Amino acid sequence: MSETAPPRGGTPRARAEIDLAALRANVRTLRAKAPGAAFMAVVKADGYGHGALPCARAAVAAGATWIGTATPEEALAVRAHAGLPADVRVLCWLWTPGGPWREAVEADVDLSVSDPWALRELTEALRGTSRVARVQLKADTGLGRNGCQPDDWPGLVAEALRAERAGLLRVTGLWSHFACADEPGHPSIGAQLSLFRAMVAHAEDLGVRPEVRHIANSPATLTLPETHFDLVRPGIAMYGLSPAPALGSSADLGLRPVMTLSASLALVKEVPGGHGVSYGHHYVTPGATTLGLVPLGYADGVPRHASGTGPVLVGGKWRTVAGRIAMDQFVVDLGGDRPAPGDEAVLFGPGDRGEPTAEDWAQAAGTIGYEIVTRVGARVPRVHVNEGRAG
Ligand SMILES: *Cc1c(COP(=O)(O)O)cnc(C)c1O
Repeated sequence: MSETAPPRGGTPRARAEIDLAALRANVRTLRAKAPGAAFMAVVKADGYGHGALPCARAAVAAGATWIGTATPEEALAVRAHAGLPADVRVLCWLWTPGGPWREAVEADVDLSVSDPWALRELTEALRGTSRVARVQLKADTGLGRNGCQPDDWPGLVAEALRAERAGLLRVTGLWSHFACADEPGHPSIGAQLSLFRAMVAHAEDLGVRPEVRHIANSPATLTLPETHFDLVRPGIAMYGLSPAPALGSSADLGLRPVMTLSASLALVKEVPGGHGVSYGHHYVTPGATTLGLVPLGYADGVPRHASGTGPVLVGGKWRTVAGRIAMDQFVVDLGGDRPAPGDEAVLFGPGDRGEPTAEDWAQAAGTIGYEIVTRVGARVPRVHVNEGRAG
């Protein structure tokens, strides 16, 4: 959970600037797509690398009433340190045996349960307290990951209702997650939606009275209004990235990328033609040229798979990673230009200064934008700007 201040004294080696005004605008754009639904801001994995706590605060300022995390530790950190109003709800969904059940209940976190083992651990952990847990039951409607299989659902619902009648918990939600919402027209979308409706109806017939029913992630929030139910759970779109190129670019979707990753050039030097560059000499200068040293590497989340392909804006021009990306640094061929050491190299950002985007890096590395921003390493300070509520 980074909540870092800008480093003091001198130019920083590198920084990830996080534009919270952009995040707030993205939340408003997404809320306008789902006007009848509550908004859960997903801030797992340290807010997809953007800093969970400031992002949670900004999302709430823009109208989010729920925060979603994967792990209970993430949920506890949000509760303890984000300074959110007490009526903002926090849901976490990735539990393992021995998890901090009691701490989560005492911190007023809603817990997701997919299997009876979790209900048993939870009720055991509540012995001797008067706290009533808030539990959301997760259905596997076809993702094949977490969630309760349809055949096991009646048993899980019955067990949860027994605990509810015993005063140990309240079932506050019924929910599920899509496998292919980012592939428009994929047949699994309709199939998951019908099964979700049936599993919700079954639980309600047995006596569950959920506050919220929800299944929509970013792509579903953006493109599938019939999936919005009582609450939507966007992650990546809130950070301004398109969930998939097939759905359009950030700009097509009315979103603005929140993170700009940049570094200060550590060295600029002249080299002759035929000079090998970086480990393995996978790049050899085609003639006399200048090389710029960018002090970011795979330890900082710059994907090694983008060796030879990753784009960087230096001095107003797109350059390409020359040779291998190393742990801490990589090199760009500056083609004879001589920027000064300390000049900015922008790996990605919103794109309006002509810089590449996280999506460009995803394509260069054969991955998705989610991974590019989420893996930016702990060594890179997050610098949160536009934290104020205006805008
Ligand atoms: C990560 C996650 C989300 C958000 O997904 P995006 O594609 O980033 O919008 C929503 N729900 C669950 C269960 C998740 O794990």
